[in-house]
Amino acid sequence: MKAHLYIRIKMQDGSRPFCEPVYSANRKLKPGYAVVKGKPEHHQEGVYHLRYLRGEKRVWESVGADAQEALLRQHQRELILDGQKAGVQVVEPITTGRDLGASIDSYLAGVSVARSANTYVQYEYALRIFKQVCTKRTLEGITREDVLNLRDYFIGKGNSNYTISHHLTNLRTFLTYYDQPWPLKKTDRMKPTKKLVKAYSKEEISAMLSVGSEDEKDLLWFLLGTGARKAESLNATWSDVDFAHGTFNVSEKDGWTPKDKEEGGIKIPAVLVDRLKARKANSKGSRIFPMTVCNPEKEILHIIKRLAFKAGLNCGECQCKPGKAYPHGRCCATAPICKRYKTHKFRKAFATLHSENGVPVRTIQRWLRHSSLETTLKYLAGSDDNTDAMRSRVDATFSAIAA
Ligand SMILES: [Zn+2]
Repeated sequence: MKAHLYIRIKMQDGSRPFCEPVYSANRKLKPGYAVVKGKPEHHQEGVYHLRYLRGEKRVWESVGADAQEALLRQHQRELILDGQKAGVQVVEPITTGRDLGASIDSYLAGVSVARSANTYVQYEYALRIFKQVCTKRTLEGITREDVLNLRDYFIGKGNSNYTISHHLTNLRTFLTYYDQPWPLKKTDRMKPTKKLVKAYSKEEISAMLSVGSEDEKDLLWFLLGTGARKAESLNATWSDVDFAHGTFNVSEKDGWTPKDKEEGGIKIPAVLVDRLKARKANSKGSRIFPMTVCNPEKEILHIIKRLAFKAGLNCGECQCKPGKAYPHGRCCATAPICKRYKTHKFRKAFATLHSENGVPVRTIQRWLRHSSLETTLKYLAGSDDNTDAMRSRVDATFSAIAA
């Protein structure tokens, strides 16, 4: 029985098709070559896959990026399939360990299909560095020392505990996927200092809006008025907006699923409804915010940072390390890089402002599409401390006591 060999590549438009691999005259594989539109093309990122039938079911099996290894695995698989067809009890070959590089390639291929571009970049980075610092070739061989090497690499780079712990979590998710135990001890953990992310104040939002173009104002009002996440905003289409009832609906799209698969309708303010009406009149496509750049989530962040800088809101203390583009580094006093301005804070402001205005927390939970109330309460922690109602309540608590 045949196990067909394919090579999975990444195209410029982000798609990841399975293609025929390229063979030389003597049936040897040409490493990293795929047949694209009838022509051989070199794809360094290509990962070989086998396709075969297990009973009635079609199975895809990743066999790594190495051409020779892939041919060997194909041969082994075909022997096993033949044996099974003949009714022979075949013991699947016991390998001494799964190849680390091939496992990473195969895992990342899955991430690139199922998760956002940003998530992919995060995983790719952590796993690529891990492959460099890990002294073992197989998943089974990984020890505590290898993971500590990764931790120390990031410490050496001057990364914060928060960032390091994030990278380690990604590595842990990868190992868990392959049923590998997590080798670190509790004391090895990098304790991230808990950051209390404050929502934008009304003044900050007004200042950013005052320096934005109409296009940028549309985006800011959308983020603020719907509380939508980045990916949800980028995937929003005109059919998600109910102009008659003034609601926005987060819905599943072709090739995109909302986080936690929660669909839901959100009441939006009249000012946003009016903006969207005007925007729709000039819109050609189905998306509300079509973006042609390769990393649209980052583009949203850049827009916010540019507006904060333009509005003179930057704290003046954030430093950016020297790099290729800026050999002397940058400071947020003179560049749009202030760390206080990020996309998610609009979602937080959406929740906080609604809460301050008396919208019930259960409603806010539904609009944020949180499955647990606890998450929503964390969002709102301390949010009503600054309201006038809270001020008079605090004063009233002590009003009967002589001054
Ligand atoms: Zn700053």
